[in-house]
Amino acid sequence: MFDRRRQRRGTARPSSNPGELLPPATMPRPSRAPGGLGGLGLRARHSGLGARLRSIFGSGAEASAATWDGIEEALVAGDVGPTTTLEVVDGARTRYVKSGGRSADLARSALADEIRDRLSGAGVRGFELGPPPAVLLFIGVNGSGKTTTIAKLAARLQREGRTIALAAADTFRAAAIEQLRIWGEQLGMPVIAQRAGADPGAVAFDAVTAAESRGLDAVLIDTAGRLQNKTQLMAELGKIRRIVERRLPGQPRHVLLVLDATTGQNGLAQAEAFSQQAGVTGVILTKLDGTAKGGIAVAIADRLRLPIVFVGVGEGIEDLAPFDAGAYVEWLLAA
Ligand code: GDP
Repeated sequence: MFDRRRQRRGTARPSSNPGELLPPATMPRPSRAPGGLGGLGLRARHSGLGARLRSIFGSGAEASAATWDGIEEALVAGDVGPTTTLEVVDGARTRYVKSGGRSADLARSALADEIRDRLSGAGVRGFELGPPPAVLLFIGVNGSGKTTTIAKLAARLQREGRTIALAAADTFRAAAIEQLRIWGEQLGMPVIAQRAGADPGAVAFDAVTAAESRGLDAVLIDTAGRLQNKTQLMAELGKIRRIVERRLPGQPRHVLLVLDATTGQNGLAQAEAFSQQAGVTGVILTKLDGTAKGGIAVAIADRLRLPIVFVGVGEGIEDLAPFDAGAYVEWLLAA
């Protein structure tokens, strides 16, 4: 199916009745958090980590061993993960001592600098689509926000004037094909799809062929998030990847792992499995607006050495922001 019906844009999520926009009232729109977080587009509540850190630093006294123990606990509670936490605290403490620091403020900035450097060290950089047609594979477990993220990124690229197609290579779920098709209709983009149960590799092949023959800038390919077991899933993703590689050398340019920030350390385990076996090039961290534990980004950057390229900050079509390490740290450590 190669569908190109143009519809109105700006929907928060696909309406089951194509062409009918959901009323704005159905979109959760928490008020934008104060504190200059525009860079991340975060309307999220603060991470909670900042409040804990403030209470640790609150006395304004010099950072003591107990201060650092408290920071360690706060980072673990904020989902930074035990191994990364130890390294972050060691690094921050060394910076603090080197700076001749004698105040809680200096300890806080040592911590912020340490986290920012670790995030940047994983290669966080501006997202570049690459020469056309760029092939983007999206992987991640069901429910992580994969389909919504594809639509958000497609809409973003479209706003920049790029021509985009979507491809439904999660042929194991009829609903996933339908969801992508509806998004395509609402965004006015072609959707390459076959019926449920078709070979996902064939859909990926068709997608690349269509993108090339129509001179599109990019094709965004959805993939399965769950099969009978993990080995089968990884084999399937590997197959799609190889088909794309053979069909168009140098592609897929991006293999983006979509990860739900609210799943915390479980998410990290998922990310490890995917990144080892599917050649992930970057992470999109979704639902940051719904978590009080944003520390998972630090763990991802540190453990997996994977850049976080975008963050999902709501259910709306525009709720996708390029990842910015500085803004992220400000949010994470805000009270
Ligand atoms: P998929 O199964 O991975 O394709 O997941 P979906 O794209 O269907 O998303 C699952 C749910 O997560 C939907 O209700 C989305 O609206 C929601 N979702 C996706 N991204 C975000 C986000 O950044 N923030 C919030 N709050 N919800 C999101």
